[in-house]
Order: sequence, then C-alpha cells, then structure tokens
Amino acid sequence: MIPRPTKIVCVGRNYAKHAQELGNKVPEQPLLFFKPPSSLISNGDPILLPRASQQVEHEAEIGVVIGKSLRRADRAAARDAIAGITCVNDVTARDLQRSDGQWTRAKGFDTFCPAGPGVVPLAELPPLEELEVIGRVNGNERQHGYARDMAFDIVTILVYISGIMTLEPGDLVATGTPAGVGPLEPGDTVEVEVPGVGLLSNPVIAEN
Ligand code: ZN
Repeated sequence: MIPRPTKIVCVGRNYAKHAQELGNKVPEQPLLFFKPPSSLISNGDPILLPRASQQVEHEAEIGVVIGKSLRRADRAAARDAIAGITCVNDVTARDLQRSDGQWTRAKGFDTFCPAGPGVVPLAELPPLEELEVIGRVNGNERQHGYARDMAFDIVTILVYISGIMTLEPGDLVATGTPAGVGPLEPGDTVEVEVPGVGLLSNPVIAEN
C-alpha cells in the first residue's frame, strides 16, 4: 500500500518517443495535470473500464512518493524530500482525452491510478537516472523506458511543481510514460515493473 496523497501530480509527454507516437511535441516546460486521489487502487485490485470510453490505455510510469513538505525547493531540497519510488499505471481514456481537451475525465475515473506494491527508499535503489520502467499486458512487453530519457528529470519535475504548489508528505508524482501505450480489454492483466522497486499487477474488467 502507498499512503493516501492529498494530490497526484502527473507529467505529460515527458518522453520524446511517446510524445511522437501520439502526434505531439515534447513541451518546453513540464506539462502537468492531476489525477484525483479517488482514482487510486492497490496491487491486485481491478481496473474498471468505464462505459463512457471505447479506448482505455495503460501508461507505465515511475512514481515518486513525497516524504516532506516541499515549497519552492531547490534541487537538493527536492531530492531530499523523496520518500521513495513506486510503480504507477496512469490509466487513460484516450478517446475522452482527445474529445475533452481538458484531461480531468480521461485521467480521473475510479480505479485509473494503480500504484504500488510498495515504496522503496532511494538508499536502496540505483541513482535516479538509472531507473527504468516496463509495461506488460498479459505478459507481453509493451513499454520499456529509462529515466535518463525523460525530457525533464525527476528532480527537475519536483522543483518545478514545488514552485507552483506545496507538495505534502504522501503526495504522488507520476513522471510520464515511455512509448508503447496501448488499449486494455476486459480479461487483460496489466503490469508495471520498476526493477528494484517492484511489480504492480492489476486485472482489467468491464464496468457493470
Ligand atoms: Zn501518464
């Protein structure tokens, strides 16, 4: 289980190849959006495909859990405020993301933020830029990315966010997804693995 955050802050288009695959450019500054804390589920909990969408997709991401209140931080303070790293699946209703413009609905359905299985402190991990993230559907690898390929690295993201809003202990930052996003169907099992951190696995079912 990861702690209940006051907010989940996400970064869009943070890997060049993923931005390209959806026809977008990497932004000049980090592109931020929220997922509501009510979208959080744990390892093993089902992702519910809402009837409102015909195209729900997985996004495997490296998650950062905040351990200290962080406001207008410099790089050293930002790094020091990281409680640890977790796995995040930024589940997205791609059709609604396109049609709505604003991403609140596309990113915000209940069960659209699997995270976990735990939070691993930096002291137990390789340097941040060596982290990698893998996404699989039914055991088949669909995504494989490296933190060093992020347009904006993890500490830069935290500095940027903390210049806008105070990050509180327990807050979760999803740092963007590498290329290879794709659809989820009822009966699928989707995994996000951050080697050294853990494996997050969730079944996919249709909403009743
Ligand atoms: Zn994402």
